[in-house]
Amino acid sequence: MIVLAGDPYEKEREAMVENQIAARGICDRNVLDAMRKVPRHLFVPAGFEGAAYRDHPLPIGHGQTISQPYIVALMTELLSVSPGDRVLEVGAGSGYQAAILVTLGAEVFSIERIPEVARIAEENLRRAGIPDVHVIVGDGTLGYPKGAPYQGIIVTAAAPAVPGPLVDQLAEGGRLVAPVGGRDVQELVRLEKRGGEITRTSYGGVVFVPLVGEHGWEG
Ligand code: SAH
Repeated sequence: MIVLAGDPYEKEREAMVENQIAARGICDRNVLDAMRKVPRHLFVPAGFEGAAYRDHPLPIGHGQTISQPYIVALMTELLSVSPGDRVLEVGAGSGYQAAILVTLGAEVFSIERIPEVARIAEENLRRAGIPDVHVIVGDGTLGYPKGAPYQGIIVTAAAPAVPGPLVDQLAEGGRLVAPVGGRDVQELVRLEKRGGEITRTSYGGVVFVPLVGEHGWEG
């Protein structure tokens, strides 16, 4: 008899979506489906696979973290991604958030400050079979003008204020989601650009590693 090896974490992923994400009010079907599809255990360091679906962030090396599943889902829902949208992610980290955005049909530019972390993101994305993420090494507080304008910009490190270049690189109708505030605790904000005007809405307290760069914190 031939037994096909399934994904050993499929049940855990389903439980993560139900108990941590849907139960807390995330209801965008496409976001929930993307979280069901992307194999999060391939985006954590070797040996941590068993912890990948738990309700907290995990270390990925170089003092950086992969965000808690619920926070990834919440930020993704707030970004309101449609297929074909160009999305800039600041802080590639493990590559997991980028994988979720690609699964939603976005063209993703993900910029990472630490070259070795960018290499890990690329390797994780390759292992997960997620093609076509443009991983760029650089200071994401300056944005990435080559891909602009973006329908979505997601900042996955904590900024003292929303970096001006990112607002400039947002398309008309575009959304920007970022943790903004102090070094230790921040507020999740969503900006939307309409008719050149920016509206800003707040979504409560979050904790991220610092955004280090010209329009961020000093390293
Ligand atoms: N989105 C990631 C988590 C990112 S953790 C994931 O899904 O796993 C935050 C990342 O932001 C870290 O890797 C850190 O090195 C990076 N970072 C911090 N400041 C940055 C900057 N100015 N430009 C680009 N990346 C930055």
